[in-house]
Amino acid sequence: MSASVAERPTTDGTENEPTKTGPEAVREGAFGNARSLSCRECGTEVELGPHYACPECFGPLEVAYDFPAITREEIEAGPRNIWRYKALLPVPADIEQSPNTEPGFTRLLKADNLGRELGIANLWVKDDSTNPTNSFKDRVVACALSAATELHAKVFACPSTGNLANAVAAAGARAGIKTVVFIPSNLEKPKQVNSAVYTDSLVAVDGNYDDVNKLAQEIAAEEEGWAFVNVNVRPFYAEGSKTLGYEIAEQLGWRLPDQVVIPVASGSQLTKVHKAFQELIKLGLVEEKPYRIFGAQATGCSPVATAYKAGVDAIRPVKPDTIAKSLAIGNPADGIYVLDICRETGGAVEDVTDEEVREGILLLARSEGVFTETAGGTTVACTRKLVEAGLLDTSLETVIINTGMGLKTLDAVSDLVGPAATIAPSYDAFAATGLSS
Ligand SMILES: *Cc1c(COP(=O)(O)O)cnc(C)c1O
Ligand SMILES: [Zn+2]
Repeated sequence: MSASVAERPTTDGTENEPTKTGPEAVREGAFGNARSLSCRECGTEVELGPHYACPECFGPLEVAYDFPAITREEIEAGPRNIWRYKALLPVPADIEQSPNTEPGFTRLLKADNLGRELGIANLWVKDDSTNPTNSFKDRVVACALSAATELHAKVFACPSTGNLANAVAAAGARAGIKTVVFIPSNLEKPKQVNSAVYTDSLVAVDGNYDDVNKLAQEIAAEEEGWAFVNVNVRPFYAEGSKTLGYEIAEQLGWRLPDQVVIPVASGSQLTKVHKAFQELIKLGLVEEKPYRIFGAQATGCSPVATAYKAGVDAIRPVKPDTIAKSLAIGNPADGIYVLDICRETGGAVEDVTDEEVREGILLLARSEGVFTETAGGTTVACTRKLVEAGLLDTSLETVIINTGMGLKTLDAVSDLVGPAATIAPSYDAFAATGLSS
């Protein structure tokens, strides 16, 4: 990848302190077919463990594998959740025996009505709002929980923009491991409640996500036995997003789509969908073909879209100000890799105003009966803008990812929709509304 180390954002992954989990030995096969952690910048390999920054160059580490031969039939014979792909994830072969939330294998909807609205001939919505805690974060957390368990962590924790805290708190409750989750104190009330029902250790921090993330890095370096899903076990966590890419390909009949539109917060999900497509090609599970990956951001927190449009490699951190709080990461750890992937594949990174985000939520709800949160409204609205700009080819098969659930961000649209009329319980009153046929 072209980006230099100097341009790498510094919020996630710059602390090179080895973080501490339990002293016990790691069992054989704890990480499945994973071989090592490999530096994305310089390729240095380090042993599998609670490490996230390269000891040579501070670059981000990611999981490298020695994959065995694997067939479509073996995968199809697996459970209807992400563990059908366990051979491609850093998890043990007996992962299904550990209590977990069993996320994934969410529906891929043919979205003809939305396609007509947007002028896209062949459109699909990958609907991750139906995961156990109603966002795609259940996928990444399931992988992080496995790593935390294998590393004998005592506490399962995260800094979060909301959905991650929900997923960590629920997964920890089911696994019987103590959770502590950190959120910005201005987070939507439903997302706070959706964490607090599962854990008595929700910590609201007066600051934005980037402040919460810095605090988590400090705690990870100080405390013994804490696994922060997106800090010291981030390489394992991030791999969970690959399952979105695997599922899209399998549900299309073991075929890659031509175009995918993905919301960008830290940028991890987008990079991992690309990694998943590359792995499927290498393993011979799908035919190789060109595809384009597009990123979606809200204008009030659009550091990656800004860099894309300026044609530069460096990402300038911003102070987020948008209703799309789940995407409000001002200093995205994987932003430069999102730029690389979108440019290399012929995609783009787009951004839309909060007003357009709201319209996107309503458009998806009224065309397909899918109620998405602000992140999904961002993705739908960016898709429309990409079509209008001629950047997205409307004749090509396109998948947009709905990463979350509208009930968690009701305030975004509650002023725009409501009863068409409030009436007395009589037919005459109803007839007077003009709604009778
Ligand atoms: C976290 C989140 C994202 C973005 O995830 P990254 O991998 O950090 O880019 C998108 N949508 C929703 C609903 C999220 O919660
Ligand atoms: Zn390195």
